[in-house]
Amino acid sequence: MIDTPKEFNLKLQQWHALNERDLPWKSNANAYKIWLSEIILQQTQVKQGTPYYLNFVKKYPDIQSFIKADLDDILALWKGLGYYSRARNMYEAAQQINETFDGLFPNNYQDILALKGIGKYTAAAIASFAYELPHAVVDGNVIRLITRYYGITGDYTRRATMSKIESLAQKLMDHAILPSSHNQAMMDFGALQCKPSNPLCQSCPFNNQCIAYLNNQVDKIPFKTPKIKKTTRYFHYLVLMNHKGIILKQRTNEDIWKGLFDLPMIESDSSKPPSEETFFSILPSLKIKKTCIERPIKRILDTRKHILTHQIIFANYYEVSSTCDISQNENFQYFKNLGTIGYPSLFSKFLKGQDL
Ligand code: SF4
Repeated sequence: MIDTPKEFNLKLQQWHALNERDLPWKSNANAYKIWLSEIILQQTQVKQGTPYYLNFVKKYPDIQSFIKADLDDILALWKGLGYYSRARNMYEAAQQINETFDGLFPNNYQDILALKGIGKYTAAAIASFAYELPHAVVDGNVIRLITRYYGITGDYTRRATMSKIESLAQKLMDHAILPSSHNQAMMDFGALQCKPSNPLCQSCPFNNQCIAYLNNQVDKIPFKTPKIKKTTRYFHYLVLMNHKGIILKQRTNEDIWKGLFDLPMIESDSSKPPSEETFFSILPSLKIKKTCIERPIKRILDTRKHILTHQIIFANYYEVSSTCDISQNENFQYFKNLGTIGYPSLFSKFLKGQDL
């Protein structure tokens, strides 16, 4: 049976008393410093982020000095951390604090959340660590602990699953324990005990209740739907036109867009225009006579990138100069009015950009 929040927290706090992480920003309840550390750690490891945090605090010890900082100086201090939008957002948030909150860091969750670059996690971290407001932080460590403990097998990146995790995290807050102590213990537990790989389940105080552990699912939770690997394809389209219209071919093979009308096309493994030799060698398969083509590639009309669920298509469009009436060939038809036929949206995008 799952522990009550009180029982859970008793075990958690006992564990934390022996295993607390020592981080340079943990000992203070200063909203500005917590904000700084949380933003630095958003996409950076603790080891890499610590010297940056210390440099910022040395140069700008409080929010008032940070408000006066030049963006260029903030960016210079940020150099090497990457994701510079974080630094720009901090600069903008500081201007917000100056203009909207008279230079004082806001002291409630909603106002903190309204600052540029601050999401739910960071707002909860600042609200709880600086002001002891009862908002559960839900970072990667907490997600891992909650999903394993409660046996949540759904994709945690989905909104419904994340809402469930957030709600459970909030319910686990025990009002007898300071929000900062609770949140820090949850994050430390996820980082040190309930680790992503090889969690220390044997010595875990929750191993009698943890559903993932009891069901042998620890390595499957938290679950995230694997990203579909997209195939990259290069399409070289031939745009042949005369007074009868534009030449199209119905796609009949087992591939994307089967049954739709599309321009005649050569597929290759590169975005480079096909050589004249390749161009002419492919004509028989397109059932176009070599003698029909005056100039294989007159000019490039357009280039496009088109993203499908499983494929990324890079398309080039070449104006081709032809001397004969290709509509004699059963594979191709001239079309003037395209309103009656179906064609891929990639072709529709090409048409919109052309004066054909
Ligand atoms: S038993 Fe293992 S998986 Fe479950 S909470 Fe403890 S460390 Fe995490």
